[in-house]
Amino acid sequence: EQKQIINFGAGPAKLPQSVLLQAQKELLYYGGCGISVLEMSHRSADFSKILKSTEHLLRELLNIPDNYKVLFLQGGGTGQFSAVPLNLIGLKGDRCADYLVTGQWSAKAAKEAEKYGKINIVHPKLDSYGKIPDPSSWTLNPSASYVYYCCNETVHGVEFNFIPETNGVVLVSDMSSNFLSRPVDVSKFGLIFAGAQKNVGCAGVTVVIVREDLLGHTLKECPVILDYKVQAEMNSLYNTPPCFSVYIMALVLEWIKNNGGSTAMEKLSKQKSSMIYDIVDTSNGFYVCLVDGSCRSRMNITFRVGKKEGDEALEKEFLDGASKRGMMSLKGHRSFGGIRASLYNAVTLEDTEALAAYMKEFLKEHQ
Ligand code: PMP
Repeated sequence: EQKQIINFGAGPAKLPQSVLLQAQKELLYYGGCGISVLEMSHRSADFSKILKSTEHLLRELLNIPDNYKVLFLQGGGTGQFSAVPLNLIGLKGDRCADYLVTGQWSAKAAKEAEKYGKINIVHPKLDSYGKIPDPSSWTLNPSASYVYYCCNETVHGVEFNFIPETNGVVLVSDMSSNFLSRPVDVSKFGLIFAGAQKNVGCAGVTVVIVREDLLGHTLKECPVILDYKVQAEMNSLYNTPPCFSVYIMALVLEWIKNNGGSTAMEKLSKQKSSMIYDIVDTSNGFYVCLVDGSCRSRMNITFRVGKKEGDEALEKEFLDGASKRGMMSLKGHRSFGGIRASLYNAVTLEDTEALAAYMKEFLKEHQ
């Protein structure tokens, strides 16, 4: 039976129906072991297998080179805003890092990093988010320990479609909201992290992919659970990992694999997002997307209704009508307003078509 509701939430977000059914089926008894994953020791053979297969699937789906560690940590993306500088800002003596600030999440990461070193914002400050400053305007510091950016800004709907050139400085990326939505050349990065609750699972677990030679420069004050070297040496089992969230991730990764992997996810994401952007762009200004065409997110489509700054009454009507049709969580982030449709991997073409049809209908009614 298919759900009657379509969840366009920004995260935690929709999961594939087959994953939920599988988890339901296995909730009481996992495999032949007679207990639930929820009750299982994280040091048991059964959980060990789950953890290993999750890592194996990730390595396969992203083609992760052997000289990278894959960690499964707690603390969310926000935990990584601290963990990244705590582990990496000491790579070079000056304790400097370069940050690109293209939306709310990279702004938060930069602010947190300021506690641990000197943070340089590499481009002129943006008055509003919706554009990635041209690389020719960046001033990168060659003695920075790393360069940091957020690959997809979930709140504003701004996505990088290129990998920044850092002239050999270690590159770090927050891929929380576009992880596994396209192939990535991991070898270009020192570190990639992603919370699971958008494209690859439920809340509770954060993936960190880190190049081995970057481990071991951790600041003394780093809490032990955020220390990549400790977690790498212990295979993410220094303390109790979020076992159930790891298990759900394994199911989602299996689903991605069975559905054609990252290449298929990329194709689907382009199809879905252009369906919505096309309606916005041919609406004669009734729907307005404030994000520059060069960096519009495939994952989080943000737009205003009625006029450029948004007609709040009309936006409310739009949201009410959507919810009557079973489409939920289309409201923009509280700091930004407007509409946001999140089209993560589990959101189907049919789900997107339902939204597109409603947008056309609403436009016709109000034009
Ligand atoms: N980075 C990005 C790009 C995000 O979208 C989010 C959450 N929406 C975070 C970081 C923070 O993640 P968490 O809530 O898991 O700490």
